[in-house]
Amino acid sequence: MRSFDVIVIGAGPAGEVAAGRLAEAGLEVAIVERELVGGECAFYACMPSKALLRPAQALAEARRVPGAAEAVTGNIDARAALARRDEVVHDLDDAGKLGWLEDRGIALVRGQGRLDGERRVRVGDNVLEARRAVVLAPGTTAALPPIPGLAEARPWTSREATTSKDVPGRLLVLGGGPVGCELAQAYRSLGAEVALVEGADRLVPKEEAFAGEALREAFTAQGIDIRTGARVEAARRDGHTVTLTLAGGEELTGDELLVATGRHARTDDLGLETIGIEGGEPIEVGDDFRVPGRDWLFVAGDANGRALLTHMGKYQARILADEIRGIHRELRSDGPLSPRVTFTEPQVAAVGHTLASAGEAGIDALRLDGDMSHTAGGSFVGKGVDGMTRLVVERGSGRVLGATFVAVEAAESLHAATIAIAGNLTMDQLWDAVPAFPTRSEVWLQLQEAWERELTS
Ligand SMILES: Cc1cc2nc3c(=O)[nH]c(=O)nc-3n(C[C@H](O)[C@H](O)[C@H](O)COP(=O)(O)OP(=O)(O)OC[C@H]3O[C@@H](n4cnc5c(N)ncnc54)[C@H](O)[C@@H]3O)c2cc1C
Repeated sequence: MRSFDVIVIGAGPAGEVAAGRLAEAGLEVAIVERELVGGECAFYACMPSKALLRPAQALAEARRVPGAAEAVTGNIDARAALARRDEVVHDLDDAGKLGWLEDRGIALVRGQGRLDGERRVRVGDNVLEARRAVVLAPGTTAALPPIPGLAEARPWTSREATTSKDVPGRLLVLGGGPVGCELAQAYRSLGAEVALVEGADRLVPKEEAFAGEALREAFTAQGIDIRTGARVEAARRDGHTVTLTLAGGEELTGDELLVATGRHARTDDLGLETIGIEGGEPIEVGDDFRVPGRDWLFVAGDANGRALLTHMGKYQARILADEIRGIHRELRSDGPLSPRVTFTEPQVAAVGHTLASAGEAGIDALRLDGDMSHTAGGSFVGKGVDGMTRLVVERGSGRVLGATFVAVEAAESLHAATIAIAGNLTMDQLWDAVPAFPTRSEVWLQLQEAWERELTS
């Protein structure tokens, strides 16, 4: 039996950060990984999806700028775009990641890790013992909804969509959340005919309604067939085609079907039963990411079900790593209020409350609206593409509670709002935060003017 201070199961972003931070603090750490060091994010999710979206976004931006537009004489080269995706995911080889672990003295154990009672992890015939703690960071897999015929129709999950070597002629996408929207737009840009079906009445339904409407407009203009408020009753595969039957009887047919309707925690085969916990669901944790009643066991990342985002898993990992070292940190950002971006064109970048979620939380909030495209910076970036920015602030105090940016390249604008929220800042305090000219950050001046109008109304 080998003994370590801490054993981490899962080398995705959450597991890697937990292991790295603990090892840098001098603890002896082992990390167990059954597939690729880097996890879903690096190889099958965040990184390849962004790589597939980027060519069309770069091309569209060049076409918006006179002088550059004249130099753009062709269309997207799908082969080259797929090759660039392969480069981003290092051809699904994690060799380049191993040096980072080695530099920190972290022992990598390849294989399926399973708990084997308290503080013990079994990997094949190896038994590892944790002197201080075990961190579970096994992530999630795609979940298939219980639609008759769906599993038999051999649909793509996000993995097949992010690793495909070909662009299907016709792609059906089930699910209009961030993953469905990103991959629908990516494949449309690479030449597929795309139809997207979403049960809610708009795309990205958890975000402000104007975000979903902006995506619907952009997608429709690009030729994506959008069906919102649509219920899928059945799916079937006939040889090379796959068909969805919608309520009402209409059928949509494609060559591939991507299902992007949610995730399932990878906790079924983790040996949880050896410590009296049932697997198959996200594992409940407290705000220090400890499993209640088991002071030696922590869960980071997607598997605790709190915020299925890489940066939030890494934040959780930093908190729990410090907790293991005896440094307690207050959890200040979590769940649906976390910073989040749908990397489509336009991008939807949001943090904190929407106006609706603030209302549901019983907060007396108001909205301040602006438009990044109506700034001097908007003449240069995202030229001619309407956008919308909304701050949600507490009535009276003017405390910033939420922000949504819908615009070309909006993702990089989000962090200013995240800082305002994390710092508990009010509109009055932000008055002196002067945005540089000519940047699209001058939208904050529009938001200040809206706040001043509110104060005088
Ligand atoms: C298509 C897509 C795009 C996305 N884009 C973004 C984005 O742009 N930004 C963002 O923030 N988030 C994005 N996400 C979400 C993001 O991928 C996840 O939040 C993130 O990967 C979670 O990290 P994790 O470390 O918890 O788990 P994972 O990345 O899933 O890693 C878990 C690792 O644990 C390993 N493992 C599991 N069980 C065991 C076991 N028993 N023994 C050994 N190893 C095990 C797995 O093999 C895996 O390598 C996207 C998701 C999808 C599907």
